[in-house]
Amino acid sequence: METICPSCGVPLIISRTHEWRNGCIANRADGSANFSVYEASFHNGVFERLERQLGPTINRMVYIAGRVAAAEIARNLFSSRALTQRLLFRSPLYRLTQRKLILFTRSIGMGRIELLAHRRGKEGAVRVSDPFHLAHCTAVILGGLDVMYGFPVSFTARVEGEAYVGELVPGKKDSLGGEDAYRRLASERFIPSPLQDGKMFPSCRRCGAPLELGRSFSFDLQGGVITERETGDRCIFYGHRSLHAILREFELELGPEVRGLFVEAEMEGFSAKLARHPDYGLSWDLKSLRSYLALRGMGFLSRLEVKGDGVELELSNAFVPTVAVGRLVALWEGCAGKRADYTYGMEGNTLLLRITPAG
Ligand SMILES: [Zn+2]
Repeated sequence: METICPSCGVPLIISRTHEWRNGCIANRADGSANFSVYEASFHNGVFERLERQLGPTINRMVYIAGRVAAAEIARNLFSSRALTQRLLFRSPLYRLTQRKLILFTRSIGMGRIELLAHRRGKEGAVRVSDPFHLAHCTAVILGGLDVMYGFPVSFTARVEGEAYVGELVPGKKDSLGGEDAYRRLASERFIPSPLQDGKMFPSCRRCGAPLELGRSFSFDLQGGVITERETGDRCIFYGHRSLHAILREFELELGPEVRGLFVEAEMEGFSAKLARHPDYGLSWDLKSLRSYLALRGMGFLSRLEVKGDGVELELSNAFVPTVAVGRLVALWEGCAGKRADYTYGMEGNTLLLRITPAG
């Protein structure tokens, strides 16, 4: 079975299930914006920082949020129709569906994930090597298996050499299902607004993925690793649902100012990246920024306007606004060679961002 497009190098399971449209990486089955392509080190950096401030409960939050989010993505990956979903997750099709889900987790850069044993409802074991983030990666796998087994299933995990092995506990449900957080995190839908020039990337004739995707990223399906070619940075397809669920949970605990912390972490991460790669192929103009953000599923830049000594930007379908704001402000600072002040707000799913020189 062919797994990687011989023409552009993108995993076929990605191009068959997702399309790049309206600034989003949208699931073909139900039209919802699912992912942004994101540096694994940024994800891990922000959570290490939060862990230092808030203690180890943060990993549990990531774990719960990621698991709920992954279950939703897994359920809708191949069909949005309830009847078809039931068929896919029942015998005789579920083995095929399960193999596809494992392949999908590798395609989105979670790490090398292998299915060791499986008998529906009785046993299940996965080995995970080189996960991009232990708690998040475990969560994604369990979310997928939750859908398989009727969730939430109970798992144990043990370290085995460089990898770890997770095993299903037969017939037992995870206590997670009783937790408020688990129910609360059942997440919203992210349906992008259609835009006039929303389909902006020339596509691969073989698989339909944007040609730019294969040019910008290399996919190692064996290892479950995605690498940004220009920088060598490991990247993941980061679920919008997961980030939103985590943000909501933090806001509940810490108040809305926690968003500022995510923006600042993003700014720091991206400034450091630009400093490491001074020739990073991204410039401060509408075309370059629009293509950069849309390829990564971060939204569609519909307006970039100079206002006095600052700029105003409008980003449609901005489902990861903290990421977009942090990144754009950092880039502006890099290009202008000075510090910035910024304000931002949302109108529906549209992000309005104003950047001015720091006063
Ligand atoms: Zn292709």
